[in-house]
Amino acid sequence: MSLRFNAISSITNDSAGAAVPNAKITGIFGSNVFTLKTAREYLADEAYKSLVTSIRGGKKIDRNVANQIANGIRAWAESKGVTHYTHWFQPLTGTTAEKHDSFFTLKSDGTAIEEFDGAALIQQEPDASSFPSGGLRATFEARGYTAWDPSSPAFIIEIGEGKTLCIPTIFVSYTGESLDYKAPLLKALEALNKSAVEVCNYFDKNVTKVTPTLGWEQEYFVIDEALVNARPDLVQCGRTVFGAAPAKGQQLEDHYFGSIPERVYAFMRDYEQEAYKLGIPLRTRHNEVAPAQFECAPIFEEVNIAVDHNTLLMDVMSRVARRHKLVVLLHEKPFAGINGSGKHNNWSMATDTGVNLLAPGKTPKTNLMFLTFFVNTIKAVHDYSDVLRAAIASAPNDHRLGANEAPPAIISVFVGQYLAKVLGDIESRVNTKFDEQDEAILKLDLHRSIPELMLDNTDRNRTSPFAFTGNKFEFRAVGSSANCAISMTVLNTIVANTLKKFKADVDALIEKGDKKEIAIMHVIQKYIVESKNVLFEGDGYSEEWHHEAERRGLPNLKTTPIALDAFLTDKAKKLFESAGVYSHTELEARHEIELEKYIKKVQIEARIMGDLAINHILPSAIKYQNELLANVNGLKAAGLPESAYKSQLAVLKEVSEHIQVIHDKVHAMVEARKVANNIDNTRTKAIAYESQVKATFFDEIRYHVDKLEHLVDDDAWTLPKYREMLFLR
Ligand code: ADP
Ligand code: MG
Repeated sequence: MSLRFNAISSITNDSAGAAVPNAKITGIFGSNVFTLKTAREYLADEAYKSLVTSIRGGKKIDRNVANQIANGIRAWAESKGVTHYTHWFQPLTGTTAEKHDSFFTLKSDGTAIEEFDGAALIQQEPDASSFPSGGLRATFEARGYTAWDPSSPAFIIEIGEGKTLCIPTIFVSYTGESLDYKAPLLKALEALNKSAVEVCNYFDKNVTKVTPTLGWEQEYFVIDEALVNARPDLVQCGRTVFGAAPAKGQQLEDHYFGSIPERVYAFMRDYEQEAYKLGIPLRTRHNEVAPAQFECAPIFEEVNIAVDHNTLLMDVMSRVARRHKLVVLLHEKPFAGINGSGKHNNWSMATDTGVNLLAPGKTPKTNLMFLTFFVNTIKAVHDYSDVLRAAIASAPNDHRLGANEAPPAIISVFVGQYLAKVLGDIESRVNTKFDEQDEAILKLDLHRSIPELMLDNTDRNRTSPFAFTGNKFEFRAVGSSANCAISMTVLNTIVANTLKKFKADVDALIEKGDKKEIAIMHVIQKYIVESKNVLFEGDGYSEEWHHEAERRGLPNLKTTPIALDAFLTDKAKKLFESAGVYSHTELEARHEIELEKYIKKVQIEARIMGDLAINHILPSAIKYQNELLANVNGLKAAGLPESAYKSQLAVLKEVSEHIQVIHDKVHAMVEARKVANNIDNTRTKAIAYESQVKATFFDEIRYHVDKLEHLVDDDAWTLPKYREMLFLR
């Protein structure tokens, strides 16, 4: 019996480890996190205060205090049964990394003790020479090191009975260049804080800190483990490179918000519990549009913490799924013809005075403040849409962006009818009256020409890559498997930069004698005019939008190797350097690393295609071909006329033709890979992989394989089919 039939017959509803205790969430929330509350309990006054200031203001902690903090963390961890610790970081591979050391050590006289000192807390040197560095850190050079990030609390990972203390860290080279996603993110958040506070102070002198916030929505597929194991493409690439469309896909739309299948429900409750213990405030769970697709979302948090929580959760979900004999697919497009998965990044900015800067205010003053941040964000997206596009570029996301159920690769901003009109009115300085009975209409009578502002959160556009949704922007084009640190680094940097420019522009007008509010309105008006091209309220999936965007001159970069160019322009270099986020070398290294990742991913997919075609598909097809042949020969020998085996011959011919094409194309693809592999320049090589390997062969080979799936005896087919992976429970 083939792996496929074994897998199908092994599917069971009573998944091992499904029993999840019914704990009250508040009772377990954050129990595995070294929160400030815990710190208060385990640290002496001096150490506690030092930790708090370093979290709030990023102040350095001295060695002696670090020892005290380390001891406190160890005491807490040991009380929970922890034996090992690790620096936990987010290298550019896109996953998380850890290297465990035990607290246990031997003193010089051989006595065994448990130890964790300040040095071990603050810095480690993982042998990390094989993490990607884009040439920043040739292996003969000094190694990279991880450095404690006190702004993200330590936590305990539980795997079975094993418990490990994880210290969130950044990862940098000895020459100071960042080698991870976290270090630049922290710098971008600081840049935003600085620019935003200055602009806030036009309106409120009490604001001393602005914290960007992020609430992500994570989409994912859940597939039976045995079926996944019988699909080498899912195991190795996270997506199916072949598979004919099932009779029933998502056309009935009966999965969206439907009742959650029991096995998946048990899995969800299980990973949610793990998440709660880690302080991840999950709030929402539901079915997504595609069959076997789901979504979860937490309450929003500071960007830094939200990013850690998302990467941590992706890891937790993948591990917990195995307990239920399930596999989580975080790939952006695991199944062709079925909706892909995104990770919507809901983003806003909050002041230390408790104001959400993207929430329309109740008074004229706060409304002008809202308008300022709202328009600056739009302007930032307009001016740097290419960099934002580069931030979401990846081999898997290329399958999703632009497919007709995902935001297009064109970056545009949706603000809703009402605000579009407000912007239009400000632009043309025409005062428009609105229905004043409506409670939601907020007056902004600062200036005669400024219309009222309304909280518009009903009219949401699901087809926009960047949509305003009432009190935040939702960046919807981010891929489900991505580390959202990249999109957050770019978004916060471009807004920081735009706000800085805004401040300079307003100050210049004030200098010339304008009143502050009038100066602000003038600059807002100017920015609206300059960025209105990026606003789009229509259907982002439509053909017309592609034409319209072209007319407007908006870029539509469909492939990663080209989209990544935006990181290397003078504009981008200046942007990131002046914000202190990436040096030129760091930016060039990022570009190189992303291209390399792209090349490797396409290469792996091409190899898997070859492997499956030659070792699975063709043997199945040939087996069936032989059966047909024996049948035809038998009928012939029995003296039957040709009309008796006409259909068999027709099928035989079709099968043979597909076999030929697949065989030839797979071999031609290998040759194309060889040519591409010989290219030295990484960008040229990535483009060759895209155009000469992927675009030339993937769809064509797939077409013939999927045709064979429809022709060949089901019994002879070894790979689990779409209908089995997506619908069997
Ligand atoms: P909906 O469910 O209708 O899309 P919600 O307001 O419930 O809208 O929010 C969706 C996501 O947006 C959630 O993950 C939530 O945490 C996040 N979110 C809400 N407010 C903010 C904010 N001010 N900043 C960042 N994210 C936010
Ligand atoms: Mg969604």
